[in-house]
Amino acid sequence: DAKKKGKNQFSFYTTKLEQQRTRKSKIEQMLRTAIESKEISLCYQPIVDTVSKRIIGLEALVRWNHPEIGEIPANEFIAVAEENGLIVSLGKHILMTALHDLKHLHEIGFDHLYVSVNLSLRQLRHHDFTSLISQLLQKNKLQANYLELEITENIALCDEKNVIYSIQKLKDIGVRIAIDDFGIGHSSIGYLRTFSVDTLKIDKSFIFDVATNPNTAHLTSALITFAHNLNLQVVAEGVEKAEQLHFLEQHHCDKIQGYLFSPPVSFEQLVSLLHNSSSQC
Ligand code: C2E
Ligand code: MG
Ligand code: MG
Ligand code: MG
Repeated sequence: DAKKKGKNQFSFYTTKLEQQRTRKSKIEQMLRTAIESKEISLCYQPIVDTVSKRIIGLEALVRWNHPEIGEIPANEFIAVAEENGLIVSLGKHILMTALHDLKHLHEIGFDHLYVSVNLSLRQLRHHDFTSLISQLLQKNKLQANYLELEITENIALCDEKNVIYSIQKLKDIGVRIAIDDFGIGHSSIGYLRTFSVDTLKIDKSFIFDVATNPNTAHLTSALITFAHNLNLQVVAEGVEKAEQLHFLEQHHCDKIQGYLFSPPVSFEQLVSLLHNSSSQC
């Protein structure tokens, strides 16, 4: 009986594994054509000044709505694209769209906004990534400081010469660098000696229980002080509740991002959100 059960369990797991593999290779195939089609789009999540509650920036987040499968989570297909190298062309498409949209927002009067774009390691490894960035800024006639690039601690820890060079070059051009998901990676902070960054984005897992867990509260408050001592701006990700906002206000976190203020929205929704919040002032 146990043998039978074990066997069934085994076939259950292989089926599950097979399903995962099939989905992955399907995603891989579909991704090649999706980049050129309208299936892939960007949505934007407002980044809000903690004190004034004004929208000061936007994080670009990629979305893939497949006609048959529906919405495929960003984490899932980004991982596939990173593995097979498609992230380089997908990432280029994302940067082109984000800067084009930002230019549009500046033109209709929201010229104080910056855009923050997530990067993958493979994009930074690509030899002409920095010239792509300068070209796109020039083409859209945007100053470099309106672009922030988000890298994770794992990218920041990369000791490859060309990656370090790229990050330094981007800083020289005037592009801002943010460390995303701060606090959950390999928590070495030595990379902060190698190159200067502008922003720390505290991972949402800290914000999740910052108002209920004293350990998290102490740690988060220490992270904010640490960042400020290094002259870095702090963004809290995943702010969903008033208690969390209250803590972040009290501890002088500079910027907040999360469902409490706004989820990621389409470009059209963003424009009306901006119009509404500016008429409130
Ligand atoms: P991330 O860069 O840390 O982005 C923040 C994620 O948190 C987004 O998930 C966002 O929708 C979600 N989020 C925002 N506010 C809240 C909140 O209040 N509560 C909770 N629980 N979640 C919130 P999303 O869009 O699914 O993206 C997931 C991850 O996929 C991103 O994490 C990023 O690592 C990656 N990703 C997304 N877009 C891109 C992209 O254009 N390029 C690259 N390389 N990676 C991307
Ligand atoms: Mg991010
Ligand atoms: Mg990210
Ligand atoms: Mg993050």
